[in-house]
Order: sequence, then structure tokens, then C-alpha cells
Amino acid sequence: MTHRIVIVGGGAGGLELATRLGKTLGKRGTASVMLVDANLTHIWKPLLHEVAAGSLNSSEDELNYVAQAKWNHFEFQLGRMSGLDRQRKRIQLAATYDEAGVELLPARELGYDTLVIAVGSTTNDFGTQGAAQHCLFLDTRKQAERFHQQLLNHYLRAHAGQTDAVEQISVAIVGAGATGVELAAELHNAAHELAAYGLDRIQPENMHITLIEAGPRVLPALPECGFRSTVTGRFG
Ligand SMILES: Cc1cc2nc3c(=O)[nH]c(=O)nc-3n(C[C@H](O)[C@H](O)[C@H](O)COP(=O)(O)OP(=O)(O)OC[C@H]3O[C@@H](n4cnc5c(N)ncnc54)[C@H](O)[C@@H]3O)c2cc1C
Repeated sequence: MTHRIVIVGGGAGGLELATRLGKTLGKRGTASVMLVDANLTHIWKPLLHEVAAGSLNSSEDELNYVAQAKWNHFEFQLGRMSGLDRQRKRIQLAATYDEAGVELLPARELGYDTLVIAVGSTTNDFGTQGAAQHCLFLDTRKQAERFHQQLLNHYLRAHAGQTDAVEQISVAIVGAGATGVELAAELHNAAHELAAYGLDRIQPENMHITLIEAGPRVLPALPECGFRSTVTGRFG
């Protein structure tokens, strides 16, 4: 029987691995390569701040797993891994539901000879009280789209407003690493774009962006010299 390699998680690591193994072992028929992901498409996570700000249409930049599998000699299965039986060498996938809540795929099991788990990570809120309930996180495409929708809704409400009051929006970004800094810059641009497109009840100067960082400066992971040129390049 052909050796079965199952990779769970089609992110930066899992997708690359499935593609490379598919193009080599899969193509030669030495092994069967299967990628499992909870979503049908992949979007490169470092682009999520652009999805959140609305400067990137996620459906234009996403990669479809089914097509990627077809071109690169591996198989794709849609489903969220919910359990693992190492004795029987099987993984369990939970049932998948469509947007209307109707079951699309039933819960099922898949057998493997070699299993790679590459399900990524999520933001650490360090147990900060209220963070999980009240903050928007930026780990997945859905979360980025939710942020963008809330931003747009705020502008639409202001646009429909009947009073002469000055409309404002405040966004607090926790974490001044690359994502936080880039998001701040993208939002600054978005404020100008939205006003230029007619949603001008909130003037660009009335979008207040606060970047919160525990360290002494923004972009703490960058060396001091890189930090200076990056900030200068981005903000002028
Ligand atoms: C907003 C943001 C910006 C970033 N910017 C940068 C950057 O500029 N440079 C950089 O080097 N890194 C950046 N990173 C980090 C980088 O994206 C991660 O290091 C990288 O994506 C990790 O790859 P991974 O394959 O381990 O996991 P991921 O890319 O997170 O992929 C995990 C995959 O597993 C799937 N999955 C999760 N759970 C299950 C399950 N139970 N069953 C089935 N599938 C599952 C998910 O749908 C996803 O497709 C950024 C991350 C974020 C969130």
C-alpha cells in the first residue's frame, strides 16, 4: 500500500510542504500526500492588516486549496481536525457546515502513516481580562473581514447621520510590532480614501489611531538602525 502522508493545516508551513511533497513523492507515486484544512482557501497572514483596512480584497489574493492540490499532485480534504488516535493512526474531522448552518460534510476519520500537524498559532492576550470578549484579533481572514466591516459600518452610520456634530472614530491597536504599525499606516490611508469616496462625515483628521506597546519603542523586534529607516520610509 502507498505510504500516506497527511498534513493538517494549509498555512505558510503546511501548504508549502504539501506542494513540495506533492511535486516530488506524489507525482512519482512514492507516497500519497493529503492536505487537510478547516478552510477552502489560504490567504498569506502578513496581508491580514490590509484586509482589515480594506486596501486588499481578500478574495483576489486567496489561494484555493482544491486547485493547488490538482496542480501539485496532492489531495485536499476540507475539515477541522477535532481528534487524534495515535494507536490506530487516524485523525478525526468535525462536521463542516455551510453559511446557512446546513451540514456540508459529515464528521469523519482519515488514516495516515505519517502525520504532520501545522495548525499555526493564535494571538496571546496574556489572560488580560476582557480582551477575548471585547477585542478584535487579527489571526484569520474572517477576523480581518469583521474588523473591516465594523470600520465601514461606523462610516456608514456617520454618513447617514442628521446632526452637525463632528463625527469621529477611535481605533486602539495593541502591539506595535510589524502588524500593528502596518495596520496603523493602512488605516491612516483608509481614512483619506473613505473621505475621497464620499464617506466624508468623518474627516481623516478625526480618525484617532492609538498604538499601544509595552516596550520603549515601536517595532521592538527591529534593530535600532532598521527601525529608524522603516519608520521614516513609511511615515515620511
Ligand atoms: C497579522 C499577521 C501578520 C504577520 N506578519 C508576518 C510577517 O510580516 N513576517 C513573518 O515572517 N511572519 C508574519 N506573521 C506570522 C506568520 O504568518 C506565521 O508565522 C505563519 O503563518 C505560521 O505558519 P504556520 O503554517 O505554522 O501556521 P498558519 O499560517 O497560521 O496556518 C495554520 C493553518 O492551519 C489551519 N488550521 C488551524 N487549526 C486547524 C484544525 N484544527 N484543523 C484543520 N486546519 C486547521 C488554519 O486554517 C490555517 O490555514 C504574521 C502573522 C499574522 C497573524
